[in-house]
Amino acid sequence: MSERELEARANTLKRLHNQPGVVDYKTEILDHAQIAKMLPDIGPEVVGGSYCPFDGHVNSLRLFRTLHTAIKACGVTYLPSHRVETIERQGGEFRLTTEKGAGSRGQGRAGGRQRQHAVAPLVGLLAPMKPERGQIVVTERLRPFLHYPVTTLRQTDEGTVMIGDSKEESTDPTGLTLGVSATEAERAVRQFPLLANVNVVRTWSAIRVMTKDGFPIYDESETHPGAFTVCCHSGVTLAANHALTIAPMIARGALDKSLVAPFSARRFHVQEAG
Ligand SMILES: Cc1cc2nc3c(=O)[nH]c(=O)nc-3n(C[C@H](O)[C@H](O)[C@H](O)COP(=O)(O)OP(=O)(O)OC[C@H]3O[C@@H](n4cnc5c(N)ncnc54)[C@H](O)[C@@H]3O)c2cc1C
Repeated sequence: MSERELEARANTLKRLHNQPGVVDYKTEILDHAQIAKMLPDIGPEVVGGSYCPFDGHVNSLRLFRTLHTAIKACGVTYLPSHRVETIERQGGEFRLTTEKGAGSRGQGRAGGRQRQHAVAPLVGLLAPMKPERGQIVVTERLRPFLHYPVTTLRQTDEGTVMIGDSKEESTDPTGLTLGVSATEAERAVRQFPLLANVNVVRTWSAIRVMTKDGFPIYDESETHPGAFTVCCHSGVTLAANHALTIAPMIARGALDKSLVAPFSARRFHVQEAG
């Protein structure tokens, strides 16, 4: 929305691309006219943007439904509202005891949003997190106009527009800060003026799974072999990495340290000791 913002964006991408061994993401910085060719509804205040041909997005509700269909097909029983309180290793299996007493077995993945720090230690793992609340504003269904994913705006294939990338230090997932929603909406309207006349159908907040340094944690337990942590923000964005790289390692029973050692939670010991 300003030359300063565009320069900051270009610098962030330059720093990312300057990493040793990074693949070429073919990112370009575009001016207003170039963007207007791709997104004709862009507002006059937008001075430019960055474009990467590999960018994509998924409809998170469809992904969620697919996940549940897939786990059911694999014979997994999903027990909502069953907080895991203890995990014991019996023979080659884990036995999980929940607040409702039901047990379940199988290979362990110490998961769970902000409680991860509490679940992981049950199997000798560590997942230090910090609370970071995000708010999203969702509009009614509109004609398709956003043919590319934009960092702060996405249009689902059903037509709704999801707006927002806010970050607040809060542990309350039920609250809403009205000023934050207002700022998100105001910026969205400046980016795409057609949004000025549409109805908002939902607005919600949730706590991100945010590790202390923002990077994922992939670890395996030394005390409970077969138990792993997969903990990160952007679980949707990183789904391909998790499904194609991390999951096969877990299925084989060991993480490939040559690939994932930097993501061990042991890095926090080093930072804290330093
Ligand atoms: C506002 C906002 C915007 C986001 N935007 C994006 C985005 O654009 N792209 C992206 O990739 N990601 C985004 N994310 C993050 C994404 O939602 C998460 O990375 C993803 O949902 C994590 O999936 P998960 O299965 O690891 O954890 P979760 O979806 O948090 O699932 C963990 C489950 O474990 C359960 N649980 C917790 N403790 C226990 C326990 N003791 N016993 C049993 N069960 C327990 C919880 O109830 C929950 O159902 C966003 C998050 C927020 C809040």
